[in-house]
Amino acid sequence: MNAEIIAVGTELLLGQIANTNGQYLSKELASLGVNVFRHTVVGDNEARMNEALGEASERADIVILTGGLGPTQDDITKDVVAGFTGRKLLVHEASAQKIRDYYERTGRAMPASNMRQAHYAENSTVFFNQNGMACGMAVEENGTHYVLIPGPPREMKSMYEYDVEPYVAALAGSGGLVSSRVLRFYGIGESSLEEELQDLIEAQTNPTIAPLAGDGEVTLRLTASAATEEEALQMIAGVEEQVLGRVGEHFYGYDDDSVFNHTVDVLKERSQTIASAESLTGGWFAKSIVDIPGASSVFQGSVTTYSKAAKQHILGIDRPLLDQEGAVSAACAEAMAEKVKEKFNTDVGISFTGVAGPDRDEGKEPGLVWIGISGPQGTISKQIHIAGTRDRVRFMALYEGCRLLWK
Ligand code: ATP
Ligand code: MG
Repeated sequence: MNAEIIAVGTELLLGQIANTNGQYLSKELASLGVNVFRHTVVGDNEARMNEALGEASERADIVILTGGLGPTQDDITKDVVAGFTGRKLLVHEASAQKIRDYYERTGRAMPASNMRQAHYAENSTVFFNQNGMACGMAVEENGTHYVLIPGPPREMKSMYEYDVEPYVAALAGSGGLVSSRVLRFYGIGESSLEEELQDLIEAQTNPTIAPLAGDGEVTLRLTASAATEEEALQMIAGVEEQVLGRVGEHFYGYDDDSVFNHTVDVLKERSQTIASAESLTGGWFAKSIVDIPGASSVFQGSVTTYSKAAKQHILGIDRPLLDQEGAVSAACAEAMAEKVKEKFNTDVGISFTGVAGPDRDEGKEPGLVWIGISGPQGTISKQIHIAGTRDRVRFMALYEGCRLLWK
């Protein structure tokens, strides 16, 4: 089974955006065992899209197109594919209703062109858009399957996961059911994880084990195909047990779990409340925690104390400590954590102070970070060094801070 991906959009050709959809889809298709042989990028142009479709149809079993499903004049992917496969376009009622509801709710007049987003080709499989308006679709013609997905990455990903992956897996696999589960790890690099699991990864064909490195964490996707979902899940559970037997100490959650989600859960379980004192991270910890539904049961608040004066006057840290030890120091991190815990009357206080870069500060190198945690068992601090941009230094500090909280 082989596939090609056609990304549609003149902005891609102009270099205004990168074809991250192509990358995402390639990675996902590879984990299903589908060979992706070509990526094409083509502008919003009927003749050139037809040319790209003509070439791909000669070679591929599956042609996945992203982009150009929207309401504007340049969004012509559905029209072109319908023409290419010789079908009429019809209106998908559930999608049309979603569009009408949206305009009713917002009290705006609906431009007629918006209904184009509910179009689908006759005799195709329609994919409802959970995160947007334009439905996707899959249509087979002369042994080639054309799968259309919206361009905005959030819509593209959710449609891929819910609709397209099972569709493609059914074509590629046993014709049975495909299930998958993501295991999330922290505190172990991708190469170490792969080394620990190498024989398993190599030996496994069903379920497959696919490692993926993100910033600060590594995930494994276990995918099984079987006659029933129950059977597939059982197979996944079997492999999961083997995996966790080896690297279980680094495992923290499944699927859509995140480091911040998990942090809220851990604090909830312990019935602990938390507040943050943030210098380096400028409120990012607070934002990340508040992003999680239910954060209010554990999170009390935060202060951003960026300057020494703010650390002194807002948190009440001794000026001599700040002047002698510096703001990027164990003593300052610990004092920040203790003071914020006291001010907010929480069980735990966490602090972040460091040099985000690119320049040195207090004579200290960029990437040097101190994290303080003050809890029922006393106060600790940890120094870490993070390489990379300002954003990465701050983001990785958050990850490390969360991990310290889990201990
Ligand atoms: P819309 O309803 O937003 O018009 P659409 O399905 O018509 O959706 P496009 O108009 O092609 O999609 O693209 C919309 C936006 O989605 C682009 O501006 C871009 O931000 C993003 N996008 C489109 N294609 C890609 C791609 N291949 N990789 C990453 N992002 C993309
Ligand atoms: Mg568009």
